[in-house]
This record gives sequence, C-alpha cells and structure tokens, in this order.
Amino acid sequence: MQRLSRPSRGSPAAWPGNIAFQRPWAVRFWTESRIWIIVPPFAMPKVFIKTYGCQMNERDSEQVAQMLLARGYELTPHEGDADVVLLNTCSVRDMAEQKAIGKMGMLGNLRKQKPELVFGFLGCMAQSRWAELTRDMEHVDLVVGTQKFHRVADYVDEIFRRKHRLKNEARMDDERFSIVDVGQEGESQGTIRDHVLEERQATAFVSIMQGCNMHCTFCIVPYTRGEERARRIEEIVAEVRGLVARGVKEVTLLGQIVNLYGRHEFPAVDGKSPFVQLLEAVHEVEGLDRIRFTSPHPIGYKEDLINAFTCLPKLVEHVHLPLQSGSDRILKAMHRTYTAAKYLRLVEKIRAAHPGIAITTDVIVGFPGETEEDYAATRALVEQVGFDNAFIFRYSKRKDTPAAEMEGQLDESVKEARNQDLLAVVDAAARRKHAELVGRNVEILCEGRSRTNPKRLTGRTRTNKIVVFEGNERHIGQIFDVRVTRSTGFTLYGDPAVLNEGQGSRNESVAELAR
Ligand code: SF4
Repeated sequence: MQRLSRPSRGSPAAWPGNIAFQRPWAVRFWTESRIWIIVPPFAMPKVFIKTYGCQMNERDSEQVAQMLLARGYELTPHEGDADVVLLNTCSVRDMAEQKAIGKMGMLGNLRKQKPELVFGFLGCMAQSRWAELTRDMEHVDLVVGTQKFHRVADYVDEIFRRKHRLKNEARMDDERFSIVDVGQEGESQGTIRDHVLEERQATAFVSIMQGCNMHCTFCIVPYTRGEERARRIEEIVAEVRGLVARGVKEVTLLGQIVNLYGRHEFPAVDGKSPFVQLLEAVHEVEGLDRIRFTSPHPIGYKEDLINAFTCLPKLVEHVHLPLQSGSDRILKAMHRTYTAAKYLRLVEKIRAAHPGIAITTDVIVGFPGETEEDYAATRALVEQVGFDNAFIFRYSKRKDTPAAEMEGQLDESVKEARNQDLLAVVDAAARRKHAELVGRNVEILCEGRSRTNPKRLTGRTRTNKIVVFEGNERHIGQIFDVRVTRSTGFTLYGDPAVLNEGQGSRNESVAELAR
C-alpha cells in the first residue's frame, strides 16, 4: 500500500482526516497516485429480507437485494445473523399484514443483543399504514413505500452509518432516527430492472408495469400501488435479453393487470394491443424458450391475445383467468366488468382456439352480501369450467376499500364453510387434470431441487404443473421431456430416464443430461 496523505482537492468535505466512512463498512484511503483502495475493516453487513405476498413483491425484493449486494452487503437466510432486517409486506389480506407485524414485533427482541440492528418495513403495508407502523413499533428505523424500492439501499446505508457512528461514540440511546419515504415517484415502474440470479437459474420475473386503475371494490392494490404506469417495450426487451445472456430460458411478465399493459401510454398497432406488441417483441429474443404472464384481468383477453397463443410458440399453454365470483350480482358489487355468462364464453373461446390449454383462476368467497344462492352460482360455474387449479380466498375486509363499508358482512364461519366446500370442488377437478397426464410425456423446465425433498428435482410443464423426479445436477436449468409415472393430486412424478432409450433428438439431449 502506498503512503497515505490527505488529498489536496476533490475529496468529500466530510472526511475525518484521511479516512472517509462513505459506506458504513468501507474505509477509503487516498494514495499519492490517487487510487482509491477500499479495505473492509470488519465483516460485511448481512441483510435478511423476508417477502410476503405475490410475485410482484418477490420481484421488488429481488431489486432491493441486488442493490444492497452491489454495495457490498451480504444476504443471509438467518434473521439471527443479520445486521439489517427488511420485511417486504403485502396488504391484500389482513392475515398477511398481521403476519408481518407479528414478525417485526418478535424480531424487535434482537435489538437487545445488537442495538445497532436496522429494521425496515417495505412495500404495500408500509405504503398504506406507515403512520401507525412508525408510531407503534419503536424499533422500526425505515419505512419505504411501493414506488421507492430503488431508494432502500441509500436509506439503509444512511441509517447503518449513523448507528455505527453513535455506537462508536457510545451514544446508542441518542434520539430516535428513522426514515419514512412513501411518496410518489415518476417513472418508478422503470426502477425494478436488476436481478439476482442463482447458478443455473433458468426462470425470472420481469416487471413490466406498476399500479392498477380498475378499482375492484374489495382490492387495496390501487391504493397501495397507485395508477397504472407501463415501462417501454424496448426497456423490457433489453432486460429479457440480459437475462437470457445469463442463462434464463423462461420469463414471467409481471403486472397488477398485466394484459392491459400500456393501454394509457401506447397505441394499438394493426389491431394489436400494447400487451400483444410486447409479447411479440419479447418472443423475438433469441435463446428465450418460454413466456408466461401474471396477473391478468378477463377483460384483457381480446382476440389479439387469444391469437397470440397460436402465433407465438414461446407463449406457454396456460392462462390465469381470475373469476372472483360466479354471481352477476356479486360481480357487479365487486366492480368486475363482466358477467358469469361472458366469462364462460371467454373460457369456451380460449379452449376452442387452444384445446388442452390450462386455465386457472382466483375466487373470493364470502364477499359482503353473498347469499347461499350467489355462492351456489359460483360453485356451479367453478364445477362447469373444471379449472386446472384455483386460489380460493375468504373475503378479507381491507381498510378504505368500498367493500369494507358495504352492508351484509358475513361471519367468518360462513366464509370458512364456503371456502372448504369450494376447495373440494377445485381439488376434484385438479386431480382429474393431473391424473390425465399419467403415462404421457411432458416437456418440463427443470427449476432445481424440490423444496420438500432436496434429493429430488422439480420442473414445471408448459401448462404450469409441477413435476418431481429423480435427476442429477445437470438437469437443472434444462428443458426436456419426462414420462409422468404417477400423480398425487397437485404434484406429478416423472422419470426422465425412461426417455433415454433412443427416442429421437430431444431424448438424446436428455440422455446427455442424465450422464
Ligand atoms: S384488477 Fe386486480 S389489482 Fe386491480 S383492483 Fe382489481 S383485483 Fe385489484
């Protein structure tokens, strides 16, 4: 190392002598040859990030993680080891909020052993309940809303630096210092664009828009995520290209109302919506094998999008079609802009255009005023469609939404009974759909080790069904066929080895993988 001397010019005014704590952990020296040398004087700070809720939240957390990694922080899966604890929250259901509040309350005990620990709430609940969170949870240092994820690393740095300075001065009891940023940010939709990829990771989420203008009466999202704002197609395509260059084979395009992407910003061209234009542009990316998208709205499935499933072979054979209710009266009260009959016609149209395509849905039971008759209409429609899978939610009252103020709020026991009943209907259909695949060959993209049994690998079919199989490391990140040998309802079990016995070029590549 060179001899150290104080710089004569161009250095930050705040430098204490020739050492600057520009980052909380990094000591920067100025040498005569004017080279910056960064010497970490102690282990890198560790960050624990827990994410509640949907894929959009997972994607936002990934962006935060990437920014912190770029500054030298390490990620840890263990909250006990962490120097920074961030909870990225969900507001869609009361239970998700309670879980995050409970977790943060419990984590507050860690402060006793480590007073300089940084605690932060991010995301939807931070956006909607920041005032009470900062008032009621004294140990929370940081609250960052849904349009400010890109500022989290700056804020963590700032709090971390301040806490360490106070610690060094033995003044941890100093007045409380916290940062709250829940403001709006123009162009925030373009700030979720960096990725943290694991080795051989073949799937990635790509955020294409933020916000929602639909104002379904039960939904808090328009209040927490704001107005619809779309990224430009070129930006999204560049991100996908970058992912493919890093080994990604499948992208899932994300948005609160994904298939209405860009409707306020970009014109239709040749009868194609901005979303279909985007699909076509992403489809052009060489090396990309599969495209998915979530979460859509039924009104966004127009002819152009239905045709895209035929014209764009990378678009997988799976549509998510949130139903919410099978009763027109309840659909109207929910401010869903379709009827049960229109929904059924759409299902028929999609199935006629693409036989075998998988259809999944979301349903809310126990919406205010839902009678037995309304519920029976939902049940009948769910039975008639025979969904490949469905997420059934008990209606959860969300503060400041119109439905929260509606008359006819139902007892939890009624919601629970309808929930269990509908789950049984969904389960029966899903089991049938899965059982139909036993004995058949299906194409899967192997995503890695099974969470429940790490000795096995897991992959996803184009129709979004999970297949577990005995494989080896070389399968991870690859696309190949497996023979489905059995089904246990929602999981298929497969055998890639069956295909190794001289079955054409694709199977040769499987043989190669199995070696
Ligand atoms: S379309 Fe989806 S995100 Fe938008 S308000 Fe309705 S349920 Fe919420």
